[in-house]
Amino acid sequence: MNIDNQIEQLRNIIRQHEYQYYVLDDPKVPDAEYDKLMQQLRDLEQQNPDLITPESPTQRVGGVALSQFSTVRHEMPMLSLDNIFDEDGLIAFDKRIRERITVPSVNLEYCCELKLDGLAVSILYENGNFVRAATRGDGNVGEDITENVKTIKSIPLKLTGDDIPSRLEVRGEVFMTHQAFEKLNHDAEKNHEKIFANPRNAAAGSLRQLDPRVTAKRSLSFYCYGVGIFEGAPLPNTHYGRLMQFKHWGIPVSEHVKIVTGVDAVLDYFHNIENQRMSLGFDIDGVVIKINQIELQQQLGFVARAPRWAIAFKFPAQEQITQLLKVDFQV
Ligand code: NAD
Repeated sequence: MNIDNQIEQLRNIIRQHEYQYYVLDDPKVPDAEYDKLMQQLRDLEQQNPDLITPESPTQRVGGVALSQFSTVRHEMPMLSLDNIFDEDGLIAFDKRIRERITVPSVNLEYCCELKLDGLAVSILYENGNFVRAATRGDGNVGEDITENVKTIKSIPLKLTGDDIPSRLEVRGEVFMTHQAFEKLNHDAEKNHEKIFANPRNAAAGSLRQLDPRVTAKRSLSFYCYGVGIFEGAPLPNTHYGRLMQFKHWGIPVSEHVKIVTGVDAVLDYFHNIENQRMSLGFDIDGVVIKINQIELQQQLGFVARAPRWAIAFKFPAQEQITQLLKVDFQV
């Protein structure tokens, strides 16, 4: 098979997996297998850059808004993250950043966070009041899930404190704890209803319900990890400072967010979280490393589907909680 056909065939398989995962919340292969296919495609495209097209899965944020929901156009795109899988990847990420920034620092300050395995959500507050929530969708257009997100009890409907921007878009992950997931599937089995493959799919399926009363019965959790637009008041000039400010206003932020300096300290954080992974009570699939200074983030900017100033450092693949049916898509 020539290289054009090989790349196109790989893209078609990936697109079908993305449809199952993002649109139907019903993946047919484990994430590690999808990641492997994406890596193969990235490698082939890197060797043949003239064959890269804007429609390639490597150039887009996966996902699409279901037509049953009203849509929300994100004022600032909701991007994905690039991945690394080992120490060499981390060293290369750190090096790439130092080569780009104008004030090279010997040891860069990184904000390290859990990579929560759920669903990205944008929540807009106006004058401190919760007014709208949306899914990431394709990064530009998401689904309006305002009423569903309002049923998540840990998310404040009103922020309290001083100097809250008049418009503030908080971004974070909605996820399901293991305990809530087990209860949901236990009840579903009793009632002969759909059994979810894993907590991520259960969270996505619960949030993208047309009837918010169904969402209200599901136990969902939320941690904030970032910000979209804000107007009317400044925010702290570091990523960590912003998260702590949000926490102060009542928004849930994970206690595992940590500032570290230099690559060795990032590695320590990664291994430390990897050791605690099984006792967290919810799924994570790695850690996320972000440049802490907002000014440096702005200098670094974005590529097609991800910021240059952040990277997902993924854990090695592990057995899924529920064994997924292995299917081969026909192309
Ligand atoms: P991603 O999960 O690789 O990375 C971006 C997402 O990470 C963000 O949108 C956000 O939701 C999330 N995130 C969690 N914690 C975060 C934090 N602290 N800071 C910032 N973001 C954080 O995103 P993706 O592009 O949606 O998709 C790839 C993931 O989905 C991979 O894990 C892949 O294996 C899986 N996937 C699986 C299949 C399948 O068939 N099994 C298909 C498509 C995608």
